[in-house]
Amino acid sequence: MTSREYNRIEGPAKKILERYLAEYPVKLGQLAKELGVSIKVSSMSTGVSGQIMKEDGNYTIRVNRHEARERQRFTIAHELSHFFLHKAVIDSSPDGIKDNVLYRSGEPERIEYEANRLAADIVMPMALVEQVLRDEFGGVVTEATIESLAARFQVSKAAMEIRLSTFAEA
Ligand SMILES: [Zn+2]
Repeated sequence: MTSREYNRIEGPAKKILERYLAEYPVKLGQLAKELGVSIKVSSMSTGVSGQIMKEDGNYTIRVNRHEARERQRFTIAHELSHFFLHKAVIDSSPDGIKDNVLYRSGEPERIEYEANRLAADIVMPMALVEQVLRDEFGGVVTEATIESLAARFQVSKAAMEIRLSTFAEA
C-alpha cells in the first residue's frame, strides 16, 4: 500500500525514487543528490524545521541543525515530497516553501498533508517495513518491534508507530 501521492510521481524521478526504497535506512542524501537537489544542514530559527527553494536554478533543501537526526530525516523527506509534488508552489515564491515544526508553511493544508503522506512512504517504504515485520517479528507489533523498526529505518518511534497503525488497518 502506498499513498496516492506516490502514485502521482512519474517519469525518471519515479524510477530514481523506486530504487532508493528497496533498502533501509533509505539513503536520503544520495537520493536528493541524484534528483539534483542539494541539502544543507543549517542554523534556522527555532520553530522552523525545513525549507525548499530554488537557488540559482537549482533546488536546495535546508534542514534545521538543532533538531534531532530522525526529525531531520523526516523533514528532508517532507521537503523532497514538495519537490516531487509541488514544484509550481516552490517556484512561485523566492523563499519557496518554509515549514514550521508542525509542517505548516502558510500554503494550503492539503499540500502539507500530501507532503507528509509521501514523506512517510519515502522514509518508511511500506513493502520493506512489512517485509521486516513479517520476517523478523512474525508480523507481531509490540513496543519492542516498534522500537527496533524505528532504529532500523532511522525514524522516530512515534513516526513508526503511526506507520504501523496504518498497516494494521490495511
Ligand atoms: Zn511542507
